[in-house]
Amino acid sequence: MNEPIFLYDTTLRDGTQGENINFSADEKLNIAERLDDIGVHYIEGGWPGSNPKDIQFFDLARRTEFKQTKIAAFGATRRAGIAPEDDPNLQALLDSHTSVVTIFGKSWDLHVDRIMGNTLEENLEMIQDSVAYLKDQHREVIYDAEHFFDGFKDNREYACRTLIPAIRNGAAFIVLCDTNGGTLPHEIEQIIQDVYRWLEVELGAPLADRQVKFGIHAHNDCGMAVANSITAVRSGISMVQGTINGYGERCGNADLTSIIPIINTKLKRLSIPQENLARLRSLSRFVSETANLVPLNTRPFVGKSAFTHKGGVHVNAIMKLPRAYEHMNPETVGNTRRVLVSDLSGKSNIEYKAEEFGVKLDGNGHDSRQIVSKIKDLEQEGYQFDVADGSFKILAEKLTDQFKPLFELESFRVTIEKDKEQPCTAHATIKISVDNRNEITAAEGYGPVSALDNALRKALDRFYPDLDAMRLVDFKVRVIDGRVGTAAKVRVLIESRDQDQIWSTIGVSEDIIEASWQALADSFQYKLAYEDKIRSAK
Ligand SMILES: [Zn+2]
Repeated sequence: MNEPIFLYDTTLRDGTQGENINFSADEKLNIAERLDDIGVHYIEGGWPGSNPKDIQFFDLARRTEFKQTKIAAFGATRRAGIAPEDDPNLQALLDSHTSVVTIFGKSWDLHVDRIMGNTLEENLEMIQDSVAYLKDQHREVIYDAEHFFDGFKDNREYACRTLIPAIRNGAAFIVLCDTNGGTLPHEIEQIIQDVYRWLEVELGAPLADRQVKFGIHAHNDCGMAVANSITAVRSGISMVQGTINGYGERCGNADLTSIIPIINTKLKRLSIPQENLARLRSLSRFVSETANLVPLNTRPFVGKSAFTHKGGVHVNAIMKLPRAYEHMNPETVGNTRRVLVSDLSGKSNIEYKAEEFGVKLDGNGHDSRQIVSKIKDLEQEGYQFDVADGSFKILAEKLTDQFKPLFELESFRVTIEKDKEQPCTAHATIKISVDNRNEITAAEGYGPVSALDNALRKALDRFYPDLDAMRLVDFKVRVIDGRVGTAAKVRVLIESRDQDQIWSTIGVSEDIIEASWQALADSFQYKLAYEDKIRSAK
């Protein structure tokens, strides 16, 4: 049992079959290098026969030194009626100059007959010739038995028979594919056991005497891709194919960001080296950034919410003992524990958060009760503090007399001008005071909030010249349903960042400019307080 479960990543091939996923050759190389770093054994780079961009990737990959990962080129068995050496797709695989070639063949008689229009016998020859030819060219061959489980259910004998030419001709791995993703874990277990038995009888020797190993390639159409892969591991297979974040066609492929920690921490087997597990979250983020997709917060193990606690009872418990509400330590996979402050929150959340932000509370629970009660009122009005850490900190300081405003607003005026032929222009003038000294400035902007932001920045510059690194990175407006007797309100959320951190602030009002001002003012107060703390620590 010292051998690891071999991980075969197909993010760069099957992953790009997912809707809205496209990688350039350079992006593919960057991802491949990250996968190599973390210890993935095989990376399927693409299908050179079907996509010229993939040929470019294989050129780049050839000139790159990977630490341990092997790059695989992917393609189909030879076409019917031609010799392998005359098949352009097999030639494209060889021209990729990878040490590993993965070819898929048909296991389901329905596909052989009805879709491809070949005879069952001819299909077996196509598998045999292709594997033998690639082995002759000194490639490590991985054979993907496409639609294996569906084929087995329809015609058990034939599906099993298609594996024989691949095994006899030296494929290193036989990968059983649940291509349509409709198979359930108990079927996976049963079918793998049946296949082993069938093959042992047919080959007349225990499978263990042969070099060949088995693998699984699962799709997530029943939400079972990870469960099916793990079941296959428990049934004795040695390779799992999947993608980072489960990206892939339709509902995706088996998600390696779940499979890896399950193998390493729950099954206590080895996939990637244990010490690399802590880089899993950053790998997941890297791939979603490269794909330009918003990371899924609820993704098991690596999602932002995977170890996030909101209910007061839970928070109280994890403060005593994290294991009470966490199935594993978040740091193991590079994630972090988060506690949200919201209308579900009790005293424990507040105490946890206050400590995080350095807000001092009295020891007897009076402060935290007061904060909880205020937050509940404000959340009734439409505030939402679980997404606005920055405003939470300021509120907690205000309620405990620790808030030190680093500027005060005297007044502002925002005007919008629209000319018949011209787009709107926005102007803001603002008057603030810092230590009883006033400053009045004016600025323009792309819109009223941008004009206000620019004017405030200019006004503060005289007192706090180090605001340059601070930027507003996101601005969200949501209309909150008007309750009985009140007009509709808007909630404005602003996300800001500097070189060290990201923080969010919130404002709620019937007036969008007023709501924006609250969020904007909180954002600057938060940043200035942070700078002030650093200055006084020096
Ligand atoms: Zn697939």
